[in-house]
Amino acid sequence: MSERKFIFFTGGVVSSLGKGIACSSLGLLLQSRGYHVTILKLDPYINVDPGTMSPYQHGEVYVTEDGAETDLDLGHYERFLNNNMARFNNATSGQIYYDVIQRERRGDYLGATVQVIPHITDAIMETMVQAGSNTQADIVIVEIGGTVGDIESQPFLEAIRQFRLREPENTLVVHLTLVPYISSAKELKTKPTQHSVMRLREIGIQPDVLLCRSDRTLESSEKEKIGLFCNVTPKHVIDAPDVETIYEVPIQYAENGFDQLVLNRLHLPLNELDFSLWRSKVERYKKVEQEVRIAICGKYVNLLDAYKSITESFIHAGMENDVKVVLKWVNAEQLNPENVDEMLSGQDGILIPGGFGERGISGKLTAISYARQNLVPFFGICLGLQCAVIEYARNVLGMEEADSTEFNPKTSFPVIDLMEHQRSIKKLGGTMRLGSYPCKLDGSTKAFGAYKAELIHERHRHRFEFNNQFRTMFDNGDFIFSGQSPDGELIEMIELKDHPWFVGCQFHPELKSRVARAHPLFREFVAAALRKKNTL
Ligand code: GLN
Repeated sequence: MSERKFIFFTGGVVSSLGKGIACSSLGLLLQSRGYHVTILKLDPYINVDPGTMSPYQHGEVYVTEDGAETDLDLGHYERFLNNNMARFNNATSGQIYYDVIQRERRGDYLGATVQVIPHITDAIMETMVQAGSNTQADIVIVEIGGTVGDIESQPFLEAIRQFRLREPENTLVVHLTLVPYISSAKELKTKPTQHSVMRLREIGIQPDVLLCRSDRTLESSEKEKIGLFCNVTPKHVIDAPDVETIYEVPIQYAENGFDQLVLNRLHLPLNELDFSLWRSKVERYKKVEQEVRIAICGKYVNLLDAYKSITESFIHAGMENDVKVVLKWVNAEQLNPENVDEMLSGQDGILIPGGFGERGISGKLTAISYARQNLVPFFGICLGLQCAVIEYARNVLGMEEADSTEFNPKTSFPVIDLMEHQRSIKKLGGTMRLGSYPCKLDGSTKAFGAYKAELIHERHRHRFEFNNQFRTMFDNGDFIFSGQSPDGELIEMIELKDHPWFVGCQFHPELKSRVARAHPLFREFVAAALRKKNTL
């Protein structure tokens, strides 16, 4: 291909319209027509990355192979495109300003007054171009976070305006908007869309395509009206009514011809669409009737975006097991030995997700005891593994004081400690172990049975880990260290022999689950939950 194309996605009217899903879905269709696609997320906030942001504010922090802490939309990009994203697939205003200020301090601007235009906007354009050249993509989709009209996103929009001026043939703007239905008037309302497009045009951006989210399909008269007021032909007004699952969105776009419209506008050949695997997987899953119940016992259960990748992993695992996984969100802070039976009975599996800090720990330990004693399939992720180790040490090995230095810095039994880990990353100068690391699996374990491989690679985001000082005390033939770093220094996975499925991992498997391939541990956990359900 001669020239790289750029598709910009902006959002109007309200947030949470699913811009990330829209970008991923279009990306998947273009990929399925033979194009190499990458997606860049530009976030308008000032934090340099979301690593320090509360999950309540920002949802999950998605960690890439190369150890970047990024926006959760990158998870959607990976799950839809079945490609790894990297650090350069996400940038924030904070990061861009930080780079420009560092250059200014180095004297790179040779005495010039450093300004939003052109210095910040140039840096934004550079970020877009870099994402393309780093990946050698044919098409770069750029998702602008936030909503048109926000003060923070203005430099990004200005950069798009300049980019289009420079390369009108290679760029396209898709504006995602809301067309609400007002039940008292029994009418779909186009005014909010008109206003948000007006905001875009005021700053010199005429969108090429309007992608209209609504709870129903738009009539052609409504498309004509939107087109007329927003200065596009009705053909370029695409409706995107609600669908049952996010994985249906690409199917919807394929049906309404969104991808073809985009390729035509970019003067690219249509190529054949090779999309049948995705389609059949999603359609088959929609017909599934069998259910399995899994409880997730965590701290951020009031904001489910905090566990986005876990939720999606269960859908992928459900697809491969022909079962719908019904999740019960249990607030760990409200769980105790008195109510645990009531809260967890009837569940076919229990998962403890990652987390930080000591709030909710006693509830998590209670849930783990329940799963261990009642032979309920159990899956512990990161903090979940750490809690499983503590629970076992206290209640089976008799180390009543066993603890983590994260929750109890003065503990005399730090079975989970910072020490080992700090040693392992000292060279890198960081405080958190981030990104992909290798792990060797013991051949006779459930972990190996799931992966069917001796050497695996998984992504990490943690500070604490199993304290090697206590290894021999766990050597009772039941508690198994099923995965370790290749040098044997770090414990990566544990499991119990005398239990149908009790597995913990120090890494985050949910970050590598894809529609095309459910994560082996989620797949096997769901299979174990299904076996439990069917033997009752
Ligand atoms: N808080 C724990 C640690 O830092 C676990 C982190 C996590 O679950 N991601 O090691």
